[in-house]
Amino acid sequence: MNPHFRQRAREALQRAKTEIASGCDERLSYAALELRMAIEAVTYERAKSFEKELPPQEYDVWQPSKLMKVLLELEPLADASGTLSFGLEDEPGVPAKEMRTLGSEKVFNLKDIKGSYDALGSFLHHPTLRQLNSGGHDWRKLRSRCDELVVKLDAVLASPVFNINFGTFTTFNCMNEDCGKTVRKRLPRGQAEVPVVCFECGAEHVVQVEQTGTQTVRPVVQDVCCANPECGHALKLFRHQIRAGAYWKCPECGTQCRVGFAVFADTPVSQNAG
Ligand SMILES: [Zn+2]
Ligand SMILES: [Zn+2]
Repeated sequence: MNPHFRQRAREALQRAKTEIASGCDERLSYAALELRMAIEAVTYERAKSFEKELPPQEYDVWQPSKLMKVLLELEPLADASGTLSFGLEDEPGVPAKEMRTLGSEKVFNLKDIKGSYDALGSFLHHPTLRQLNSGGHDWRKLRSRCDELVVKLDAVLASPVFNINFGTFTTFNCMNEDCGKTVRKRLPRGQAEVPVVCFECGAEHVVQVEQTGTQTVRPVVQDVCCANPECGHALKLFRHQIRAGAYWKCPECGTQCRVGFAVFADTPVSQNAG
């Protein structure tokens, strides 16, 4: 499935414009609803360019501000507007003298979302008793808010380039032998150690980035000793594998080992007696 969020946002925005143009105050609630849908759609569109980095549990996040915060954790420039230009460098590493612009992208950023999305929400409901006592919904305020949002969303949807998303990525095979799936991770600028979780199995890794750019991946594992005290063989387990009920056959002595909870006395038992 590849939903066309920009198209859906355009359709919602058009419906909002129709409601606003009716001139009827009560219909502004429907405009507010459509504008909220447009904000959701442009934010989901932005999230689409982070699809492979987004932990699967975040796919259920529907509130635009929460989703944008997740994207900002992945990339601090996720909600920044920008211009895409290119040019031929005379000298490698030195910006080209002549740049050609491909276009600018206006992103509906977190500040825009915070300032508008929730404020529209109160107009989707009947005025509360308190609001009724002070005259009900302030339609004039809502109309000017709707007009402002139409201008902003029009600019976002008119951007000739969109979903600009640059970054340095690393790709490796999950080091959990039972998984081995391809793991892809953005490497934030200037971060020497980047924790990475395999979305497929939950195994934790750390990518170490040297100043030269060389990357090494190491699994975050723990030595777990065989249950047979005479064996002493230690197996390396990922943290997500150390859970009650997990078992394995020791490759050294063949003992079936199982992880379980145990209760320990906090102080020597004899001190508590009596
Ligand atoms: Zn894995
Ligand atoms: Zn053993």
